[in-house]
Amino acid sequence: MTQDTNTTLWKFATNAIHIGSEADKETGAVITPLNLSTTYWQEAPGKNKGYEYSRSGNPTRAALERNLAALEHGRFGLAFASGLGAIDCVLRLLKPGDKVIASDDLYGGSRRIFTKAYEKYGIKFVYVDATDVKNIENEVDDSTKMIWLETPTNPLLRLTDLKAVAQLNNLIELKSKNSGYPLIVVDNTFMSPYFQKPLLLGADIVVHSTTKYINGHSDVVGGAIVLNDNDKNENVYKELKFFQNAIGAVPSPFDCWLTLRGIKTLALRMEQHNKNAQKVAEYLSSHKKVKTVNYPGLKSHPQHELAKKQMTGFGGMISIELDGSFEDAVKFASNLKLFALGESLGGVESLIGHPATMTHASVPREHRMKIGLSDTLLRLSVGIEDADDLMKDIEQGLDKV
Ligand SMILES: *Cc1c(COP(=O)(O)O)cnc(C)c1O
Repeated sequence: MTQDTNTTLWKFATNAIHIGSEADKETGAVITPLNLSTTYWQEAPGKNKGYEYSRSGNPTRAALERNLAALEHGRFGLAFASGLGAIDCVLRLLKPGDKVIASDDLYGGSRRIFTKAYEKYGIKFVYVDATDVKNIENEVDDSTKMIWLETPTNPLLRLTDLKAVAQLNNLIELKSKNSGYPLIVVDNTFMSPYFQKPLLLGADIVVHSTTKYINGHSDVVGGAIVLNDNDKNENVYKELKFFQNAIGAVPSPFDCWLTLRGIKTLALRMEQHNKNAQKVAEYLSSHKKVKTVNYPGLKSHPQHELAKKQMTGFGGMISIELDGSFEDAVKFASNLKLFALGESLGGVESLIGHPATMTHASVPREHRMKIGLSDTLLRLSVGIEDADDLMKDIEQGLDKV
């Protein structure tokens, strides 16, 4: 199978298990071989079987890249050593003077790479409340080269109507004038391709931290880019592929192999994350010590209708505010027995985090306050344990505050 896999052939769970895991031609092995060789024998200079040096291309990585492309309904997949490695590669498409319009409550690390690594090269980042696409429309001008979105956002679970963004008239006009730019980039880490396929909603590029749901077992740090590349010369893909090799933030073959293995159960895992999170969110909403529950699957979520339209599930991420102080929030989080207090999300085991001091500590406090990311906000990554056990754990934690 080539990179240009016909992804309409099979449905999601089948693609997840079979694309990139075709029986090995030499041995018949059902599982993709782990190919550790750094270099490849050439018959004559430049005459090879498609691989020369493992940074430029590796068979195990190519298998993962085909798989990722299929899951997102894209033509091209590129795998990286981390989500931020993937994000960095996309940002390399920019030049001094270019402007990026981004959602104002992005993952802290994305905001950090924008402000600390790229602003100094003369690239301008403006942050807007992307729950209303008008705010994006108003910022679009001739220098705009990218729209950077997360939906739902981390950690406030706010949504952006991706179809409405892709249909903005001024954006469409600019795209036809500027060979496809501004590109609409969506960080789809929170939903995984199982629940949301941004390329089908009009996005140009999808990025992932595969560290989270895609690998799903909290044992690989990785990232990905998937795109269709509407440019008939495939210039954007070629440029990204060039940078992947030129910069070198590539994943190890073993990480690719583990990620491919994790993906085989992605459909099952996401279903269970979703079921558990819905139960936990409803339980939290009914608890008198909990002030706010942000979860797109709740009818009380201000964008619940959009969530139902744009996603096929609501995912496993919830954020909450207790009716109490910073100390209460810390006490609750530290007293849980099943929800490990830790960074990251999307693994089979439940986690709880305190964004203000952990994942979003790099976001200036003033900005955090502006968008409503308070010092008492807690973020739950609901795992796939038994939901009753998870709720009991939360109950005993809340009893202590
Ligand atoms: C974790 C995360 C990233 C960064 O990915 P790494 O694999 O940690 O480099 C980017 N975006 C989102 C939404 C994330 O949760």
